[in-house]
Amino acid sequence: MDYHHHSNHSYDSKADMKEICKSAIEKGVREICFTEHYSVNPRVPTYGHMEFDSYFKDIEQCRSLFGSELTIKAGIELCEPHERKAEFKAALDSLPLDFIMGSVHNIQSTKLSAVIKAHGERANELYFQELYKMVSEADIDVIAHLDLIKRYTHRDLNEIYDFNKYKESIAKILSKAIERGIGIEINTSGLRTSMRKTMPGKEILSLYKELGGKILTIGSDSHKADDTGSHIAEAYELAKQCGFTEIYTFTRRQPSPIPL
Ligand SMILES: [Zn+2]
Ligand SMILES: [Zn+2]
Repeated sequence: MDYHHHSNHSYDSKADMKEICKSAIEKGVREICFTEHYSVNPRVPTYGHMEFDSYFKDIEQCRSLFGSELTIKAGIELCEPHERKAEFKAALDSLPLDFIMGSVHNIQSTKLSAVIKAHGERANELYFQELYKMVSEADIDVIAHLDLIKRYTHRDLNEIYDFNKYKESIAKILSKAIERGIGIEINTSGLRTSMRKTMPGKEILSLYKELGGKILTIGSDSHKADDTGSHIAEAYELAKQCGFTEIYTFTRRQPSPIPL
């Protein structure tokens, strides 16, 4: 299963949906969920790129071409869906979306890399505070790449936050997610960079399990067909090591467990 994938319906991908589906089938992926970037905030880069009619038309075309070999779900990855909630609701409510991920890519419309530049190590704290706001308020199914901040601190400061220092903030985020029926994902894109880590890693996944978390999806966050399904098998192993016995798929935003 690959539950986080971008195509040319996202501003930062040129990948053709049909090519992605072919690649998924070649790699043994049985179910793929497209999760295109979307925002209603004109101050962030993901604003204004998504054409829903053409997105759903491409999804339908891929379902008719590949549906016998590949289950294809229509999802979306929202930037800061705890802000401008009424606008998000108005834009999305009538759409036949299977899956909605929530991401913190910006803090008050400022990109994480710029937040790190301005605040250094304190960006970690600001990021986890923002994530708590998102998980407390947004209408989402899963938190995307829960500790995304480490990708940028690793790249820009050559450091990654100390889990124990932020354990309390992270536990608060996870408990709120569990209380609201929101899941988390294992995002394997960090394994394709020099960071070589999933987002999140073992410590957060184990803590989520310990706190009673169940809903877990796995996604490559690929932006091109070559990366479809990348490192998914490793993520399955990691989920097992952390005590999970199921991962989840979504249909029209309803989660279903699949035994690992
Ligand atoms: Zn993202
Ligand atoms: Zn993504």
